[in-house]
Amino acid sequence: MTVLVINSGSSSIKYQLVDPESGEAIAVGLVEQIGESTSRVKHTYDGEKHEYEQRLADHGEGLRFVLDLFDSVGPSLAEAGIVAVGHRVVQGGDNFNGPALITEDVRDLIEELAPLAPLHNPANLRGIDVARELLDVPHVVVFDTAFFQTLPEEAARYALNREVADRYGVRRYGAHGTSHQYVSHKASEWIGREDLKQIVLHLGNGASVSAVVNGEAVDTSMGLTPLEGLVMGTRTGDIDPAVIFHLSRVAGMSIDELDDLFNKKSGVKGLAGENDMRAVWDMADSGDENAREALDIYVHRLVKYIGSYAAVMGGLDVIAFTAGIGENDDRLRAEVLERLAPFGVKIDPEVNAVRGDNIRAITTADSSVTVLVIPTNEELAIARQTMDVVATLS
Ligand code: AMP
Repeated sequence: MTVLVINSGSSSIKYQLVDPESGEAIAVGLVEQIGESTSRVKHTYDGEKHEYEQRLADHGEGLRFVLDLFDSVGPSLAEAGIVAVGHRVVQGGDNFNGPALITEDVRDLIEELAPLAPLHNPANLRGIDVARELLDVPHVVVFDTAFFQTLPEEAARYALNREVADRYGVRRYGAHGTSHQYVSHKASEWIGREDLKQIVLHLGNGASVSAVVNGEAVDTSMGLTPLEGLVMGTRTGDIDPAVIFHLSRVAGMSIDELDDLFNKKSGVKGLAGENDMRAVWDMADSGDENAREALDIYVHRLVKYIGSYAAVMGGLDVIAFTAGIGENDDRLRAEVLERLAPFGVKIDPEVNAVRGDNIRAITTADSSVTVLVIPTNEELAIARQTMDVVATLS
């Protein structure tokens, strides 16, 4: 039994054929530049990477091409045993606190939520619609926001005029929820206890932090959109909203220009000129002061969130690092944890420096907080949640 996991973007479709029981990713692929003169397809199966270039006019053509690939290079659809398709959807608003079987009503709700995620929900829906046409199995949606539906009102509500906020659905929905849920659950399993106060640091190109008490999210750094919170690859994270008024007035920037500036031209890239942390470290090591300062700002923001979430939870048992930077950047982890030494956090530098795909603790046995590195696996989490929904159908 396998689940095809689909993450459909505005001009891309990422997919993975997952065995939800073993956790194995049987085939992995990506269609990019859909609708452009040349689209690119990458499909990896059985250790072999196949690459193609040809025009794929829309998501329907893209997915049809992928399904043909399954038959030509494998695994054949007849033998793949696909029992369901799991779709990632970015914004579930207040409507979804878990995965949902796609029905016409659910589809309409996702469409209605588009104003809250104009770049993402319509793109997600495009993938859902074509996949439903082409694959006659149950389709399940897994929302990036669902894990954060447990946030208490004091964490979810902004101190914005109540009437305006309620009329337009302006509140903190969070994002990366599937990863935060998966990683916090893994941390509990590893420690062998549910009753934990955890901080999960999902540090990838997008980055977010959550506070999790006894398996439930109580706060998170991303807000109405994934712009709030930590310093990210290209996004500002937290910033005085009056900067928008200021730049509009003094620089004459339009809303679209500001959106682009805050989301795509800021963060580590806007500070250092590069957003890949490996390049930023190389630049800092060769004396680039802007790169070093970008790292300092990144670490400062992280330490600030860790301190505030420990206070919000009234204690801290576990910090879990995950995603591209969290899993691989031992120097960054060390800089963050050294700042927590006054609170009894004791990093084990040798274990921290070891690379690996396994969950590992990087603090010493007498550290006040256990710090773990946990590889995230959003596709597997989506596949498993999809199977949970399918199991309720019979
Ligand atoms: P993600 O969004 O989770 O795929 O993470 C992507 C980011 O991880 C990249 O932009 C890099 O900045 C970062 N990354 C990946 N490998 C490393 C590494 N070995 N050291 C530092 N950063 C890394």
